[in-house]
Amino acid sequence: VVQVRDVEALARMESAKIEGKIVYFSARMERARDGAGYGKTVAIRTAGPSAAASKGALAVVIRSVGTSNARLPHTGTTVYNIGSPRIPAVAISNPDADLLERQLAMGKPLVLQVNVTARDLPQTRSANVIGEIPGTDKAEEIVLLAAHLDSWDLGTGALDDGAGIAIITAAAHMLKDIEPKPRRTIRVVHFANEEFGLSGSRAYTEHVISSNERHALAMEADVGAGPVYSLESRVAPEQLALIKQIWTVLEPLGVERGGNRASGGADISALRAHGVPVMSPRLDATSYFDYHHTANDTLDKVDPKAIAQSATAFAVAAYLAARVEQSWMPLEGGS
Ligand SMILES: [Zn+2]
Repeated sequence: VVQVRDVEALARMESAKIEGKIVYFSARMERARDGAGYGKTVAIRTAGPSAAASKGALAVVIRSVGTSNARLPHTGTTVYNIGSPRIPAVAISNPDADLLERQLAMGKPLVLQVNVTARDLPQTRSANVIGEIPGTDKAEEIVLLAAHLDSWDLGTGALDDGAGIAIITAAAHMLKDIEPKPRRTIRVVHFANEEFGLSGSRAYTEHVISSNERHALAMEADVGAGPVYSLESRVAPEQLALIKQIWTVLEPLGVERGGNRASGGADISALRAHGVPVMSPRLDATSYFDYHHTANDTLDKVDPKAIAQSATAFAVAAYLAARVEQSWMPLEGGS
């Protein structure tokens, strides 16, 4: 077993040290409110197996990408490059990774047996689920609320992304009879298959482009139950004053003013690349990665007070985005 910190460290190693060995990736994800540690370590899971295979490794073992101290490993997408062998790749929990590292540090010969029971199953059909609150005088402009229906098989997907589905659906429920009515159409989309390649989002975006549907603004909930702690955006600079106005209404919920570099989320990223501005109420991810993509992603982890605040913040933001007089401007050249 060869211990390597991450994909970059592996790239600097000679193949002779990797050939015929099991590569163990040791980098640990850092806990943070904005979940930034996930982006920094997830490349080990997605790119690590093929990177190790290209240097002759037999198998890959990674420290689970997540902050859990339970002995439950994390799962998620792995991408095998065409041309490198599809070697076995597994994650072990943080406590088991600690144990393996202590054993490696002793310097004695160590044998690790990898027994993988994963299978490739055929593709199956799933569907996006769409509902709308029709707008009035600007009904052809859409304010999109997005989350995803699918989840990884280990847990129930209560946080990823049952909570997001609940947040956007509850937000729409709060707005369905509100007066004055939203001027733009508020559309709720429960996306299919976010986790395994964003096919629901791709099909939706293709439809939007081919039918010339005008999406004024998009919002997504896919980081657990919240609460919302900040309002970020990605809008034309001229429209930051509008975002600030919306934020002043959210501020009493404990929401900070965030920046204008929001990615928005996975399911709306293709729309954003196509120029649709995004508004992003940021969900507190401090404990999200203790459960995300593990057997522990179950309903008892959802805090009723936090998710109620989140749904309220999404409802307020979507309603105001659908009410404002000024038109939402497309992002310059996408981004
Ligand atoms: Zn998700």
